[in-house]
Amino acid sequence: MKLRELFLVKPGSKVNLSKIDPDFTAGFKNEKSAKNKIKKYNKSMTDLQNSLFAEGKWSVLICLQGLDAAGKTGTISHVLGSMDPQGTRVCGFRVPTAEEAAHDFLWRIEKQVPAKGEVVIFNRSQYEDVLVVRVHNLVPEARWSKRYDFINNYERQLGANNTHIIKFFLHISPEEQLKRYKERLDDPAKQWKITEADYKERDFWKQYMAAYEDALSKTSTENAPWYVIPSNHKWFRDLAVSKIVVEELESLGIKIPKPQVDVDEIRRKYHEARSEEAEGKGLHVEKGPERPRTRKATIKKD
Ligand code: AMP
Ligand code: MG
Repeated sequence: MKLRELFLVKPGSKVNLSKIDPDFTAGFKNEKSAKNKIKKYNKSMTDLQNSLFAEGKWSVLICLQGLDAAGKTGTISHVLGSMDPQGTRVCGFRVPTAEEAAHDFLWRIEKQVPAKGEVVIFNRSQYEDVLVVRVHNLVPEARWSKRYDFINNYERQLGANNTHIIKFFLHISPEEQLKRYKERLDDPAKQWKITEADYKERDFWKQYMAAYEDALSKTSTENAPWYVIPSNHKWFRDLAVSKIVVEELESLGIKIPKPQVDVDEIRRKYHEARSEEAEGKGLHVEKGPERPRTRKATIKKD
């Protein structure tokens, strides 16, 4: 099934979250039936991110949004954690510090966007400034209502500089959120996460859905698309996010750089000749396969 097309917010379309079932699993019956696929996509993600790092041409920014307990942290560790930490960074955005609040809302974002070859994951993002800020009237409507355009312009600017942006809204039901809060309550290792404010925030569910519907509708663009991921089932969320990230990365046409040296020459000079020399001295030489493993199949020519 084409999950990418299914969950994409088509640029210009109007999102109605009440029509998207957070329990949807695209015909998969349970975690077991999805496990091998998740493994396969995670492996592809590892390879693609390595190539992205090697090529150093693209930057990738993955924005994760969702209400509390929607699974942002779980997605980061289960799915995106398969990428090499050397080329990835996770950045969380919380209530702005005094310094952040004294600046324009994009100031703290700009400092964290990915460099070339890097994948950065935002746990919450610039979108909080049209979500929580709107729901709680933290700034006047006249100000937050202009931010959709500011965000689109900024994301277009990043896109023009080879930053590919992928945005996920992890869609859960209020019942599922309450169930997860109860699990936190029953697990001593997770009790530290609980605040009473999280429970009180549930009274604003409708307002959050309205704010999300507007944000998703106004800011899903070709360069920076939104995907609404049914997330009541954690394993399905992992499957959908990993598959979409793989397809998005594949769409970049990443090419592993060609070797800077004559590979055969280097092999002959430093490996085969040395082996023969060592053998001549009676040293133990561990012989590898006749031809070393090559990745020729994945190297695309210019
Ligand atoms: P958590 O993700 O559980 O660590 O919580 C972070 C909190 O910071 C959430 O309640 C967010 O809504 C809040 N937050 C993030 N960005 C902003 C912002 N720009 N203005 C106000 N609150 C924010
Ligand atoms: Mg929290």
